[in-house]
Amino acid sequence: MTIPADADARRAVPPVICYPTDTLPVPDMVRYRRALDGAMAVSQLLAPPRGACHFRVKAGQFFRITSVGGPQVGDLNLWHDGDLSERFYSGKTRALHGSHVTSGERLWSSFPHLRPMATIVEDTLGWYGIDAFGGSVHDVIGTRCDPYTGNLLSGAQYHHCCHSNLTRALADATGLPLPEAERHVHDVLNVFMCTGFTRDTGQYFMKASPVRPGDHLTFFAEIDLLGALSACPGGDCSSKHSSDGVDCHPLRVEVLAAESGALDGWASPMANGYDRSHGRQV
Ligand SMILES: [Zn+2]
Repeated sequence: MTIPADADARRAVPPVICYPTDTLPVPDMVRYRRALDGAMAVSQLLAPPRGACHFRVKAGQFFRITSVGGPQVGDLNLWHDGDLSERFYSGKTRALHGSHVTSGERLWSSFPHLRPMATIVEDTLGWYGIDAFGGSVHDVIGTRCDPYTGNLLSGAQYHHCCHSNLTRALADATGLPLPEAERHVHDVLNVFMCTGFTRDTGQYFMKASPVRPGDHLTFFAEIDLLGALSACPGGDCSSKHSSDGVDCHPLRVEVLAAESGALDGWASPMANGYDRSHGRQV
């Protein structure tokens, strides 16, 4: 390998943001927060340690994920209730909002829909920011822990990774057989997880989550949602995952409904406006 004479100059080219967000539709956070203030819980579920739960949220309702019992990371999947082909698109959410998400940012759906599925309205870990290691909370960079990578790396057969927990939860929610449900499980929002990339090797890292019991992340459902939440076998993800070797805690999910009239003037977002001709005349 020959290093070119202008290597430093090439490296010194400043970056540009791929997707400036100044033309993204802006969520009406004042309206959402006011609606949340008067909202009442209509259902409550628990994702057990190393297990998952599923829940349904109507467009215009809220859902809240709360740490209970001890520091715990959760892996969240979202689908359009009634159309599993529209699901949370972690990669595009990352491209739009960055590697970690917080209040005012949105979870976007897959093509061809590409619309906001949920807007984060409350994040009690919003104070964390980006630490000295480049770590931050609630990432959309990890995929989800899964038994295939474990098998690849160590030959293990472990059944309580988030991928399997989410598969079982979706099968329970829909009645689909496990292999069918598994095809709809997708890359997650890593709720409460603290992650980043090492500066020297660019490797994905995790560190002990700063979450404490009572901390929560609250979303406004922009469309009818089916959700599944796994309480990751990694616990607070301070050391390892994909095994039964660390302390694990449950996570609570509450669905909340706003008072009638609180969302007057709000409308669920339409599907994306691209005509889908892909450059060919029909
Ligand atoms: Zn996991």
